[in-house]
Amino acid sequence: MMVILQTVLFIVLTAAAGYFAFKGYYRVYKNIMLGNKRESYTDQPKLRLNNMLLVALGQKKMFKNITPAILHVFIYVGFTITQIELIEIFIDGITGHHRILYHAVENIAFLRGLYVFTISFIEVLSLFVLVATIAFLTRRWILKVPRLNKPELKGWPIKDATIILLAELYLLACIFSMNTGDMALHDGMYGFLVSGKLVPLLSGFNDTTLHLIERLGWWGHILGVFGFLVYLPYSKHLHILLAFPNTYFSRLNPKGYISNVPEITREINLMMNPDSAAAAPEAPAEPVKFGAKDVFDLSWKNLLDAYSCTECGRCSAACPANLTGKKLSPRKIMMDTRDRLEEVGRSIEANKGVWNDDGKSLIENGYISVEELRACTTCNACVEECPIMISPLEIIIELRRNLIMEESNAPAEWTGMFANMENNGAPWQFSQQDRLNWKNG
Ligand code: SF4
Ligand code: SF4
Repeated sequence: MMVILQTVLFIVLTAAAGYFAFKGYYRVYKNIMLGNKRESYTDQPKLRLNNMLLVALGQKKMFKNITPAILHVFIYVGFTITQIELIEIFIDGITGHHRILYHAVENIAFLRGLYVFTISFIEVLSLFVLVATIAFLTRRWILKVPRLNKPELKGWPIKDATIILLAELYLLACIFSMNTGDMALHDGMYGFLVSGKLVPLLSGFNDTTLHLIERLGWWGHILGVFGFLVYLPYSKHLHILLAFPNTYFSRLNPKGYISNVPEITREINLMMNPDSAAAAPEAPAEPVKFGAKDVFDLSWKNLLDAYSCTECGRCSAACPANLTGKKLSPRKIMMDTRDRLEEVGRSIEANKGVWNDDGKSLIENGYISVEELRACTTCNACVEECPIMISPLEIIIELRRNLIMEESNAPAEWTGMFANMENNGAPWQFSQQDRLNWKNG
């Protein structure tokens, strides 16, 4: 009876977790698709696949900073491999069996050995995850590493990072409680490496208590995993999934490349060579909007970047504007873009799929300020540093284009330079005819 009840409960919880997780991931997908789809990111699939394998799976860019890279690899590999044990937990939950895979192979020495080796390997990796998790908590809360203690992380972002690290510890406690309880209950029959060493801690407990410890670990683990799946779309830890598409769809142009605005290119070509007017492409029928004012004007890839950001702060730590005390932090650019996108997404959802202009935008309104946008030197250091190929610079350029070309919002020094460029073809206040005057005398 108890087994049937547990099975029914497991199936109901799995269905509920599946439903809420799907809702969360679909919401993120819909929000990303609010971006414009003008540009395609599907050329050179081999190179893209290569980027994804090296950067997302191989974590190539993380290794510029060796200590956090190693700790991150512990958590990443440990977290991934631990899911193998989840397969058995899942089958047990659905079928009402206990350690179904072990009992399926217990009479075949090689396969039984492989099973014991796999679970023991998971236990050893879990110890590495434990070390890495404690180290990350220490770096954040005791050593207070500067990059992880910046103003933009106050409030929810720092809570989110801590919740996930504590959840890791909780899941590890569940795995060891489940395996050690099981080992103690069956007199070490399974032969797991680490939990076997922990069995003496449970000596003196009767079978009922050992069974309870094992069940608490089992249910605690699966509920933790369900909770993690549902929570992930609301967390910066979504990067563990989005790093893959984000690196695949990343821009393949050289880093210094800045895209032209086709309408302006057309105008300049006509200005430089009026005879080409007949051959020039048609002017667009609709009035053109320059740059981006809100999330709708950014590309879907920019919005995918925003959801993929790990908030690690490597970009801000390398940003010359940030380092010299300017207000700009490229990490905050990504976080603000995601927060505004979330706000827009919630509003559309509340209005049954219709966007009612809320009179706000991504510029100012508590998001990205004009001061931040003006501080960027377009040096690309943030793009170079990002471990998952995010470009805060692309968003900055688009927002700045809008400020200048739509709002004429530029400091006087810049306006003078723009006028010189237009009239003299150079940033200086000299006529084109005087260009060669320097050689006189
Ligand atoms: S491109 Fe701009 S935001 Fe990025 S590092 Fe350079 S100055 Fe900072
Ligand atoms: S943009 Fe990249 S480097 Fe910057 S915080 Fe996000 S993930 Fe880290």
